[in-house]
Amino acid sequence: MGFEQNIRKVEPYVAGEQPKNPGVIKLNTNECPYPPSPLVKEAEGKIDYEKLRLYPDMNAEKLVDALAEYYQVKPSQVFVGVGSDDVLSMAFLTFFNGSLPVLFPDITYSFYDVWADLYRIPYKTCPLTEDFHIRKEDYLVPNGGIIFPNPNAPTGVLEEISMIEEIIRANQDVVVIIDEAYIDFGGESVLPLIDKYENLLVVQTFSKSRAMAGMRIGYAMGNEKLIRYLKDAKFSFNSYTMNLPSIEMGTAAVKDDAYFKETTGKIIATRERVKKEMKKLGFFFTDSMSNFLFAGHENVPAGELFRALKENDIYVRYWNKDRISNRLRITIGTDEQMDRFLEFLRSYLNN
Ligand code: PMP
Repeated sequence: MGFEQNIRKVEPYVAGEQPKNPGVIKLNTNECPYPPSPLVKEAEGKIDYEKLRLYPDMNAEKLVDALAEYYQVKPSQVFVGVGSDDVLSMAFLTFFNGSLPVLFPDITYSFYDVWADLYRIPYKTCPLTEDFHIRKEDYLVPNGGIIFPNPNAPTGVLEEISMIEEIIRANQDVVVIIDEAYIDFGGESVLPLIDKYENLLVVQTFSKSRAMAGMRIGYAMGNEKLIRYLKDAKFSFNSYTMNLPSIEMGTAAVKDDAYFKETTGKIIATRERVKKEMKKLGFFFTDSMSNFLFAGHENVPAGELFRALKENDIYVRYWNKDRISNRLRITIGTDEQMDRFLEFLRSYLNN
């Protein structure tokens, strides 16, 4: 026994691989294939080296103000963190402190159950339908809180706002978190509902649509009371999470809306083109509204395709898990990357 008995033992989240080989076509972690806005580079050049001596602004006011202005909310309705993982982790710690189980889908972002285990939060997973949709009724029962991504990951399936609103409305005695990591690729945000429902927290990220996964910036928006509670927990955990470069470069990214729209527009166009091409090759998939596809093939098992792609330096994501073991999650890359991906599939499936 010894010291082991007092240790918090957890089974950590497993992130997608970051291969060292730069020649790889990397379609495995839903990053943006385009660089961040040129304004971000400009902001980087202007960072005052001498200032790195000092602690950063613990309220990240500049970034919070830019987000508030962009989304037309009050700065007191915005919380920022080190990627949305940091924001979500703080939200689990802050809002899911009850004794009833927190509810989320059986197939979803695989960090949710990890945080629940880490913080010893009871939870219950609700099975998605055959076509990977949420069953509203599952969330109309007593619970300790609700979280799901919209669109969901790794399925890419987008739910209707009206259905989500019904869930929020029926659960006003708990916090409902909508994880909108992929909302900028054609979905409609529930953000306008934060003024109507005090129990709604909307979480978004700079990692996908703003092409800044490497900077680690995420944010939550909600009622001022929720944001205050979130800040209290954060300032009891680690005050200085947002470093100076993140604040400066993140602010610059928010200000370049034209570039943001152009980039997300390109990814959406590529996604729709790849859907058509993959259909011709015998793939089936959900009608993804995110920057990835969730696809399987009529005849070739996903595990086999995953290995064949990897051997040819094309990385996608595969989970050998119940209900999804015959699917690949494929991030949408540039048109050129996707053409090479399709080219490989064509020749592999022909042989
Ligand atoms: N939510 C979902 C649904 C995700 O897929 C991801 C990406 N792994 C995140 C949150 C976290 O992204 P980040 O911490 O880079 O903002």
